[in-house]
Amino acid sequence: MRLSRYFMPILRDAPKEAEIVSHRLMLRAGMIRQEAAGIYAWLPLGLKVLNNITKIVREEQDRAGAIELLMPTIQLADLWRESGRYDAYGKEMLRIKDRRDREMLYGPTNEEMITEIFRANVRSHKDLPKNLYHIQWKFRDEVRPRFGVMRSREFLMKDAYSFDIDQASAKTSYNRMFVAYLRTFARLGLKAIPMQADTGPIGGDLSHEFIILAKTGESEVFGHNDYLDFETPDADVDFDDAAGLQAIVDRWTSLYAATEEKHDVAAFEALPEDRRFAARGIEVGHIFYFGTKYSEPMKAYVTGPDGKDVPVHMGSYGIGPSRLAAAIIEAGHDDAGIIWPDAVAPFRVGLVNLKPGDSACDAACEDLYAKLKGLGLDVLYDDTDDRAGAKFATMDLIGLPWRLVVGPKGLASGVVELKRRGSSAPEQLSAESALAALS
Ligand code: ATP
Ligand code: MG
Ligand code: MG
Ligand code: MG
Repeated sequence: MRLSRYFMPILRDAPKEAEIVSHRLMLRAGMIRQEAAGIYAWLPLGLKVLNNITKIVREEQDRAGAIELLMPTIQLADLWRESGRYDAYGKEMLRIKDRRDREMLYGPTNEEMITEIFRANVRSHKDLPKNLYHIQWKFRDEVRPRFGVMRSREFLMKDAYSFDIDQASAKTSYNRMFVAYLRTFARLGLKAIPMQADTGPIGGDLSHEFIILAKTGESEVFGHNDYLDFETPDADVDFDDAAGLQAIVDRWTSLYAATEEKHDVAAFEALPEDRRFAARGIEVGHIFYFGTKYSEPMKAYVTGPDGKDVPVHMGSYGIGPSRLAAAIIEAGHDDAGIIWPDAVAPFRVGLVNLKPGDSACDAACEDLYAKLKGLGLDVLYDDTDDRAGAKFATMDLIGLPWRLVVGPKGLASGVVELKRRGSSAPEQLSAESALAALS
């Protein structure tokens, strides 16, 4: 992408309304724009990041055997009356009426709808287990939308729903998502710790929140530091091996870690003082097993092996990709701007032409631009006539992993300059060596 043709409205000054660094940097880098309180447009750079996040989320859901579908954002109130949650959900639910005066709502979550889809189509235990997920916008009329997309009213969620014949099998489905989440957050460059958690309005009794430690986090969390050094399960983990999954979950729940609601002071104080944290954290994912809480009132029954009908055992599993974009910035930035992990960076390389209009610089840049694209790398080519300082500031702000600078002086001695974002020392090398380093 040529910067001269792109749409990346950079703000030089920190916007006053932004209280935390991720919000500030997302606004300054032209990633998002607020259209109403807690409602954001995702501008091109932000959308690229969001898409990179959902790609990883999707790959790990698919790897774990979950199946993607897409449910609508607007739902019928009557569906929620079946579970009893239409009244219980309260003011966080955005309620709407259509022209026929039918009560509808903008979905804050999808347990009811997926249960309706399931009961209409699945009758036998032979079709189980199943895990269905979608990645769809949600609306919750938060009392205090703040911190940009960290706590917005409209936000993107990956929500998966599992269906099993009994509790033992449902626990394996829960474990699959637990392991998939460990892999997902690690691939996003994050250290997420699964913590015992409250179930809130979703219900149920088994639940973990996946938490990133960050000073700006809204949750108070407690746990053992060793979790930060635990190994992520491999890509070839066998999602059909119930015992293997349980062993991973056992290890990742072997030490104390809990959110405020589940905090056990005695258990925490039993930890060695130098190995424990009491910190702020960001909830990036949340998984629940809630048994028959929805299947019973909504009559989602299947015929068991003995011919008897039983309500299906369910769990639900949420990740917030839009919140993750902000959480990744909270975890990776410096005074100059964002430092993206490779996997989510909006472009891999920022190619900076220090003297557009200079035929040698232009030719070298065009050649590098074509060759980098030929290597399959996403490149942002700064071909604008901004001054060098502004170009560097922009590249630092938007946080691309690599910066490749081409200037007349360097070219005269046969070199370009390559710098990894976050490392202080740029390297002078030939264009060929730079290409080799990036490939
Ligand atoms: P919170 O405690 O932050 O209000 P929640 O517990 O209400 O979140 P869940 O119902 O568990 O959220 O939803 C699953 C995931 O959706 C959360 O873990 C989070 O990543 C994301 N999410 C929830 N609310 C928001 C929001 N207002 N803005 C952005 N992401 C959100
Ligand atoms: Mg909430
Ligand atoms: Mg929560
Ligand atoms: Mg939650």
